[in-house]
Amino acid sequence: MIFSQIFDMVNVGIVILDKDCNVFKWNRWLETRSKISADKIIGEPIFNYFPELNKSWFHRNFKSVINFGNFSFFSQKLHKYFFPFKASNTLGSKFEFMQQSCTMGPLRDEHNNIAYTYIMIQDVTEIAAYEQRLIDLNTKDSLTGIFNRRYLEKTLEGEFARHQRYSRPFSVVMMDIDFFKKINDTHGHQCGDYVLQAFVESISTNIRTVDIVARYGGEEFCCLLPETPLDAAVIMAENLRNIIEKSIYHYNDIDIRFTISQGVSELSDQVESAQDLIKKADSALYEAKASGRNRVCSC
Ligand code: GH3
Ligand code: MG
Ligand code: MG
Repeated sequence: MIFSQIFDMVNVGIVILDKDCNVFKWNRWLETRSKISADKIIGEPIFNYFPELNKSWFHRNFKSVINFGNFSFFSQKLHKYFFPFKASNTLGSKFEFMQQSCTMGPLRDEHNNIAYTYIMIQDVTEIAAYEQRLIDLNTKDSLTGIFNRRYLEKTLEGEFARHQRYSRPFSVVMMDIDFFKKINDTHGHQCGDYVLQAFVESISTNIRTVDIVARYGGEEFCCLLPETPLDAAVIMAENLRNIIEKSIYHYNDIDIRFTISQGVSELSDQVESAQDLIKKADSALYEAKASGRNRVCSC
C-alpha cells in the first residue's frame, strides 16, 4: 500500500515489464508524460505503444537483463531519448522531445529468479538545455548566432589534420565589409548591427550545408569550405560578392547598400599550419582591399 503510493509519487518514470515485455506496472509519472493510462497499457506488450523500441538496442539490453541479471544505463547523450515524450519548454530549449537518462535492471522473486525488468526514466531536459546553452555561449557569436572565432580555429585545426592524412581539397574565404565604419557613423551602431545580421543571413543562404561560416571579429567573417579547391572557392566568393553588391538592405526607412572584399586560400603542402592558411587568406584579403575593394583575391 505504502509502496504503491511511493511508486506513483516519485519524480521518475518507472515501468516494470515481464519476461515477454508485457507491461506489469506503469507509474503515475509515465501516465502523465505519455498520456497512456496504466489501465490501458498494463498487460499489453510495450511495443504495441512504442514500436520503435522493438528493433533497437532496447531489445538487446532487455535480453541481457532478463537472462543474465545485468544492469543497463542509457544517457540522453547516447540515445537522445528512450520513450518519445514531448519536452516541456525548459529554458526556451529547442528540444522537441524530453531528454532522458534511463536505468534498466532485473527484479527478482522470492527464489532469487529474475521475474521482471524495471526501467527507470529521468527527465534530464533541463540539464541538457543548460549544457546546450553553455556550448552555444562558448562556440557561437551572440549578435549573429553563427560560430565564433574560437570554434572556427578549433574546427580548422581538425580539418588541417584531416588534410595531412587524406589530402582532400579544402579552402577558406576571409570576408570583410567595405567601409563598414561609415555605416555605423552615418546610421548608428544599431543599424551596423542589423547589417551584420543581414549579411550573415545572405552568406548562410548562399553556402552549402557542409560549409562553416564564423564571425572572425568585428565585420570580418570566415568561411570554411571542405572538399573545395581554390578555383571553386573563388567562384563561390565571387558569386557572393556579386549578390551583396546587388542587394539592398532595409533598416527602418533607410536603404543600405554595401560591398565586401574577400581573400581566398587553399590547403596544400606549402601551407604549414591551420594558422598559416588563415594568414594566407588574410593577406589575399589585404590585397583585395588595397587594390580597390569589392573584389576577390586568392593566394
Ligand atoms: P575597410 O573597408 O578598410 O574594411 O573599412 P571599415 O570601415 O570596414 O573597417 P574599420 O576597421 O575601419 O572599421 C570597422 C568598424 O566595425 C569599426 C567598429 O566600430 C565596427 N564594429 C566592430 N564590431 C561591431 C559590431 O558588433 N557592431 C557594430 N555596429 N559595429 C562594429
Ligand atoms: Mg571593413
Ligand atoms: Mg575589418
